[in-house]
Amino acid sequence: MVFERCNFCIAYEEIKYFYDSHRLGDISKTLELTESFSAVCPYCKSELEEGDILISNEQEFFECVTEVIGGTLSEEIAECQDCNHGEILLVQRHGDPLDLTTVGDLILEWFTDDEIIKEVLPHIRCQTCNESIPEDFPYVTRSELDLFYGEFQEIFDEVFGITKEAGSDFVKYLSKNPMLGLNHDVGKEIFTLLKDSTFANRINIPQDRLYLRGRTRKKLERLVPFVAAELWNPPNEITRQGRYNPAGVSVLYLADTEEVIEKEIGFDEDNYEMDIGEFIIKNPLTVLDLSGTNSSSFSNMNESSDSTLKTMYLFPNFVMQCLLAAGEFNGILYDSVKGKGKNLCLFDFEKETDLLINNIYTYN
Ligand SMILES: [Zn+2]
Ligand SMILES: [Zn+2]
Repeated sequence: MVFERCNFCIAYEEIKYFYDSHRLGDISKTLELTESFSAVCPYCKSELEEGDILISNEQEFFECVTEVIGGTLSEEIAECQDCNHGEILLVQRHGDPLDLTTVGDLILEWFTDDEIIKEVLPHIRCQTCNESIPEDFPYVTRSELDLFYGEFQEIFDEVFGITKEAGSDFVKYLSKNPMLGLNHDVGKEIFTLLKDSTFANRINIPQDRLYLRGRTRKKLERLVPFVAAELWNPPNEITRQGRYNPAGVSVLYLADTEEVIEKEIGFDEDNYEMDIGEFIIKNPLTVLDLSGTNSSSFSNMNESSDSTLKTMYLFPNFVMQCLLAAGEFNGILYDSVKGKGKNLCLFDFEKETDLLINNIYTYN
């Protein structure tokens, strides 16, 4: 019996465990000793007996086995650093880059043997671009991607009636072509829906409905409450670009309960006073109603406009552009993620005509 290696001198246990865990069947290019006869491995000199494994051609064995292992591990790699446009960048800039899983981590989860690791590496390929990926490159899995795009899933599904796959595809398209959303079928569908007067999530906020806006002032610095002019949204000239609003378009954020305001602002009652302006709707408003969905990406829109987070802004921004282009919307209504209640974000309104400040009081 001619053979070159045995189960004692290659990392056979690791390979076997990997094959079994992934239900890959028999390991090719191996032969199990079925009856006792004296054999000594020419490589490691181990004495072999029944049940031990012989490998007749070392090179063929490694080629076959590492290709199978590499191919199996590659299924984990939904997108590599080069073809992922969201999550990896986000973590690199804002999180701990050590949180990112690299190709090396993936292999080390299963193998400790240097010989195997070295041979498996060239077989690791990204499922998206099909390029082989260096050991220290990060990647994301399919489920991580689902989680990333899942942020919009309820809105795709419950508001726009779009599948998760089509929605994710659209967000990816936007990340590469941020200005061309309307060229994509999903983009067209969303715009058509928004223009349709019978669209279920297009609702009216009736006359006389009250909404609140809060503004804090430092107890020791300003003693008098804010006046009405100070409780409106900032003038257009000084508005920076945000999640919804293009630079220069000022947005008025209102809430329907004091609790929401307190939580959204993160009110620190020890050092600050908070004045609340009570706004009353004078003309019925038309808004896109996202309440009842997980619209956290939409509701965080008044936070930082950091451009590295732009992937997260792309979809809300697209919706906003469509609402403006449709020309009939005054704003968006969504659940507060911080307090119990709703936020109303108004981007198209006439001060004093569509709504006005009815009352101002200091919260306590
Ligand atoms: Zn051996
Ligand atoms: Zn790739």
